[in-house]
Amino acid sequence: MTADADRVTAELLRAEQRKDLFEGTPPTGVSHALVLAAPYNCDEFVVLGNHVQLAGLVRRIVATARSALAGSGARVLPKLSIPVEVMAAVLATAGEGMDEVRAMLLADQIDLALHRAGLQMVEREQPEQAPALPPIQWSQTVVRADLVAGRPVFREVKHLAGLRHEAAVPCCGRPVQLEADVEAPAAIMCPFCGLLYDGELVEELDSGGWDDTRSFVALFTVTSSGLQIVKRNPPKGRA
Ligand SMILES: [Zn+2]
Repeated sequence: MTADADRVTAELLRAEQRKDLFEGTPPTGVSHALVLAAPYNCDEFVVLGNHVQLAGLVRRIVATARSALAGSGARVLPKLSIPVEVMAAVLATAGEGMDEVRAMLLADQIDLALHRAGLQMVEREQPEQAPALPPIQWSQTVVRADLVAGRPVFREVKHLAGLRHEAAVPCCGRPVQLEADVEAPAAIMCPFCGLLYDGELVEELDSGGWDDTRSFVALFTVTSSGLQIVKRNPPKGRA
């Protein structure tokens, strides 16, 4: 079409209302006609189809127009809210034989009915962050039930050499080595207990005292518990 947008009229008609477009009866599958007309220069653009096809086309035109006209100040159809679009999508796929367009209309009506009743659909709030678990101090004993994801556990260390220290994993006490002044915590896995930790050395408050000796404790933070470790037998019959 070659008309200015403000001089175009759009009409959705039943096919029988425009018998002049056909010789006799409308072809099979054609129930509606979307007529875009520019009376100023006698231009007419007609799309034939069923109501679902035409509604889909209209939606595509609206979406294109909305992005093309964004920021220009021109009035465009409002975008449906996300809750309405979600409800329509569910209705259209709920197996009730409802097509996309009817689903959209029904969702819009439900939204309107709620609005009239002073209610509105709102986005569900994010669940609140679980409160931080209190750390288990190095002097406290640990039981297996304490070791849930997010739990920090301090354990004492034995100095090996340089910055290397040895600490016992909180679950079963197996020794692991940790190094001080590293950038990221070490991922430590205990395959026997099915636990995954971030392990790091934390300098103690009174570290570097009169004799300049730095002292550390190990901090194990449980990142995952209840891992299932599957032991695979090596394939037999191979050299
Ligand atoms: Zn363990």
